[in-house]
Amino acid sequence: GKAQLYLDNAPSEVKELAQTLTMLLSRLSQSWEQEREFVSNVSHELRTPLTIVHGYLQSVLRRQNNLTQTQQEALETAASEAERTIRLLQDLLDLARADSGYLHFQMKSYVLNDLVEEIVVMAEKYSDRVITIESTSYPIEVKVDYSRIKQVLLNLIDNAVKYSEAGTPVIFKLNQLKETAIIQVCDKGYGIPLQHQARIFERFYRVDESRSHMTGGCGLGLSIVKTLVEGMGGSVSVQSKLGEGSIFTISLPV
Ligand code: ADP
Repeated sequence: GKAQLYLDNAPSEVKELAQTLTMLLSRLSQSWEQEREFVSNVSHELRTPLTIVHGYLQSVLRRQNNLTQTQQEALETAASEAERTIRLLQDLLDLARADSGYLHFQMKSYVLNDLVEEIVVMAEKYSDRVITIESTSYPIEVKVDYSRIKQVLLNLIDNAVKYSEAGTPVIFKLNQLKETAIIQVCDKGYGIPLQHQARIFERFYRVDESRSHMTGGCGLGLSIVKTLVEGMGGSVSVQSKLGEGSIFTISLPV
């Protein structure tokens, strides 16, 4: 209103400038939209054949018991790289969907204590780490999308395990502060230098490329965590000290 009134009385140069800016902004947003669509289409097109390749590799690995050790290892590497790339593509798809507002959440009520327990049992199956839970004596009820909260917590557990030495503890702490449920994932790992802490939630951002490279991620995990948690009405933050460990805190409305 006020801006329009100002523009109506503005000299023609200002009007022209305003028009140019509006046009530029609309072009920018169009090209962002195109980029998102491109990422989403490419991810989708790559994921399908890769899933098929992965399936064949798995079936050869399962059925052939006369493979040489070298062949066996080559196929296992191929399968695990395919799997990693499929996950990366799924992450890119999720982010592109979130950007264009097409990421949908099926929000239902759950008892957080049971949910975390269930997910921890799941995570322990494919990591050799003991994960403990410091729960509350009372049930905390939250409204979340089951598969999305699972994705979030598995991502955080995955990181806690990846960025710490074998045998160190991973601890979940649950709490409720007024209307907010608080989930903390704590590790006694390598920690994150202060100057990097604000940036680790950015896409493709990794603190120590050389060490991170060995762990086979690509820097999308935490940006997915942030997108999903915020999509469910919550927030995520980090506290960490180099050489001492990290605490990732998720707050969700109860
Ligand atoms: P990725 O693990 O694939 O590199 P993430 O987005 O999950 O990507 O994490 C981004 C970066 O943040 C990691 O590369 C790592 O440097 C750092 N990081 C994440 N979680 C932890 C943790 N629990 N302890 C130490 N560093 C971490």
